[in-house]
Amino acid sequence: MSQSPDLHAFHRLQTSVKQFNVSGRTLLMPDMAPFGVRLIAASFRAVGVDAVVIDTYKGLSLGREFTSGKECFPCQVTLGDILHHLQQEKERLGTAFSPEQYVYFLPEADGPCRFGMYNKLQRLILDRFEEFKDIPITYVSTENSYATNGIMPADRAPSFRKLAFVAVIVADVLDRTVWRVRPYELQQGMTDAFMEKALETMVSLVEDLGASLDFHKLYRLLDDIVATACTFIDPRQPRRPRIGIVGEIYLRTHPDSNQNIVRQLEEFGGEVVDASLGEWVNFVAFERARKLRRQWKTAWQEKDHKTLRQVSKQLLGTEIEKLYQAWRQHQVYRCARKHLDIQTDHSIGQIERRLDGNRLFTFAIGTEAALSIGGALEYVHHGFDGIVNVFPFTCMPSTICSAILKPLLHQMRIPYLDAPYDGTIQPNREVALRTFLYQAKQHLASRLTGKNSKG
Ligand code: SF4
Repeated sequence: MSQSPDLHAFHRLQTSVKQFNVSGRTLLMPDMAPFGVRLIAASFRAVGVDAVVIDTYKGLSLGREFTSGKECFPCQVTLGDILHHLQQEKERLGTAFSPEQYVYFLPEADGPCRFGMYNKLQRLILDRFEEFKDIPITYVSTENSYATNGIMPADRAPSFRKLAFVAVIVADVLDRTVWRVRPYELQQGMTDAFMEKALETMVSLVEDLGASLDFHKLYRLLDDIVATACTFIDPRQPRRPRIGIVGEIYLRTHPDSNQNIVRQLEEFGGEVVDASLGEWVNFVAFERARKLRRQWKTAWQEKDHKTLRQVSKQLLGTEIEKLYQAWRQHQVYRCARKHLDIQTDHSIGQIERRLDGNRLFTFAIGTEAALSIGGALEYVHHGFDGIVNVFPFTCMPSTICSAILKPLLHQMRIPYLDAPYDGTIQPNREVALRTFLYQAKQHLASRLTGKNSKG
């Protein structure tokens, strides 16, 4: 008996959005944070997975054509990216195009957000194309802290995990180096030109490291890059107001989607720090430990010894991993901070403490809102002069974040701006950014003269 179309589509969500050993196929990765994604792709290649970062923002009209307009903007962008890439591949290869050659990588998250559904929705759309329906979608999930043993041979997954984490932190440090140096560069464009080459060198080194995990080579290269980059700063230029960005991770790190907000803020006179990728990875581990502790408590109350043993083991593993991450992160930042005072990353524990014993918000609700609210208050604590919340139009956690931060920061006299994006050009955006920067400059001036008591 043949299945109804609805049942068939449902079946495809289970059989063609799945974790499996992707070795031997080309792993197609959507672009996001430019340094971060390229170094994660290099980490995949280091363990034998042929990962490529696909072109971005060239297929937005396709992304829009196959969605209803109610989806989150990152879903439209990534859908457009994959459709555009596959159409280009088909054109390039002609009859040699073989869907079996590819696998599309689209991570997911558990919790209340629509992000957990992106890969399912995109499966249904890819299935409408006869030539693309045999391309499976694979993923890693926040549910198990992005475990990769489901998508690569088990003996390679632990090395990949360590390498990818360090690569993510290195990418954060490269980003922070750019943001600290570029606004003060001696010659316009020199920082970007240098960092583009530095990234290529770093990508090759990550690939070559492979399973050896000789991180000292990576640290030496990073040390050299930052030592060179800091010579680009013109010491005669006064320090600008520092602007902290929080918000939804895809939008705030994908320059095309946020219409290059970091550069715009720099152009109007700011020095910017965006919340890091490392912060998100640490948050995922932190959340997992919190859930495990809750399960442990329930098992203890119910005297369920079997579950208690299992959860204790998992909790111990997660806590060890958190310590490992903190140790590696410290090593990577130390390489850069020897030469340049880049902003250190917010610790998740500190972000939680900023929520004032759950008075302002609570991690128990889940989503990125807690991170953004606590992260914004951390920026304020470190003397930043303004906060921008960057997010996809209608994003649920960022709207919560806005509702809490706007009155709170107003009370503290810290300039604050909501920056929602949906791919359209808003004529008043530039005016809003310029006005915000004017307020941030005033805040800096008041802070330096000691007049801003509540900041
Ligand atoms: S975080 Fe925002 S953009 Fe992402 S899935 Fe949730 S609502 Fe959509």
